[in-house]
Amino acid sequence: MFWNKSNKIDHKFCPACGLKLKIEDTFCVKCGYSFAERVKKKNAINKRNTILFIILLIIAYFGLRYANGQTWIPTSFADALRTILPIK
Ligand SMILES: [Zn+2]
Repeated sequence: MFWNKSNKIDHKFCPACGLKLKIEDTFCVKCGYSFAERVKKKNAINKRNTILFIILLIIAYFGLRYANGQTWIPTSFADALRTILPIK
């Protein structure tokens, strides 16, 4: 009764003030809550994760260089990593 899968959802509610909005609305006409803003924040988190991943790759690169000096990592593996990483 509350949730019927056969009914197409054509509306949503503002999470800030509870106003009924059209599904395609990008912001609330009453309080100005922006749905697009949420997408932006999500992208910012993804960007931060990408930066963290790159930092981890750099740490792994220098770690491998050090390990390579200790000669317990196969040189071919270190060389393969050097071709993947854009660091000279
Ligand atoms: Zn609102």
